[in-house]
Amino acid sequence: MKRASETEVGRSMQPLASRYAGRTVVAIGAHPDDLEIGIGGTLAKLQLGGARVVMVVASVPKDFEVRMAEARRGAQILGCELEVLLDGGPRRIEDIKTCELVELLDDVIRRHEPAAVLTHSKADFHNDHLLVYNACLPTQRLGHFDFFSYHPTNCRPVPIAFHPRAYVDVSETIDAKMHAITAHASQFGGRGLDTEMYREFAHVQGRMIGVPYAEGVDVVRMLLA
Ligand SMILES: [Zn+2]
Repeated sequence: MKRASETEVGRSMQPLASRYAGRTVVAIGAHPDDLEIGIGGTLAKLQLGGARVVMVVASVPKDFEVRMAEARRGAQILGCELEVLLDGGPRRIEDIKTCELVELLDDVIRRHEPAAVLTHSKADFHNDHLLVYNACLPTQRLGHFDFFSYHPTNCRPVPIAFHPRAYVDVSETIDAKMHAITAHASQFGGRGLDTEMYREFAHVQGRMIGVPYAEGVDVVRMLLA
């Protein structure tokens, strides 16, 4: 309910969480763990702020049952719903045509009518992530949702040209993000990989806006007022 004293200027200055309170946010990642790594703190914050958050995983390339269980646990920790587009067994995104991936994502948008969509970035280096990003672009014709890209996700850092233009303070949800990342045990502990770099990275991004921890996003489309 809009408060009588609320001005249009005031509404545009609402914090991100209250901007989407009572609305649906859809986050789309190519694989299990991409959303936790790329934007998990923001998703937890949106959920705590009253948004319904749907995590959409495009495909599970292998170890289907193990990775599905990890994905369910990750979504549960963040307080989000989970959907898998290529469900029923191990699949690769390249198993289907791009037009079919667009149709699946169109269906997601039509069913959920999101107020915001978050997905991979065009600066990503993983082809599956780029396929998902490119397939998300045409879904913008189906509604006027805000559209953001999160930082390229990886298990080992590599140089990339991603320059966030907006930041979300995730100081309250960084622990939930880290917990959700470690739910993907087969990807980290199971391969001897450290997850602490994600906390360190969020700390560096937090310095950009003067808070302990942040996640940077690129704005593809956003209605300011
Ligand atoms: Zn991935």
